[in-house]
Amino acid sequence: MPEELYDSHDFCWLVDEYCSLAEENESLKSSIAELEMAQREALLMLPKLERGHTYCDDCWYSCPKSVDGCCDASQGEECNCGADKYNKLLAEIIGLLTPPEVKQ
Ligand SMILES: [Zn+2]
Repeated sequence: MPEELYDSHDFCWLVDEYCSLAEENESLKSSIAELEMAQREALLMLPKLERGHTYCDDCWYSCPKSVDGCCDASQGEECNCGADKYNKLLAEIIGLLTPPEVKQ
């Protein structure tokens, strides 16, 4: 490297700039790695939050979608315990957190 360049103020400034950029880059990389780790952990934990339909020994109060269904025919076939709505929301959250390459 030419001596006049090495001694120049500009070069020192460039080295400093480069070092601070490299430092910033490393810190960004480690932040991204931490976020990715949290994302992976969340994706492992979230499916455990999925819930079943309300089942009651007195089948009158069970959700129509529970294992044995509901004895109250007037309740129809649809979920009335909120599990479907809850699980749909959970699936949306999991979808948002799932990286595009995994979704394909
Ligand atoms: Zn239900």
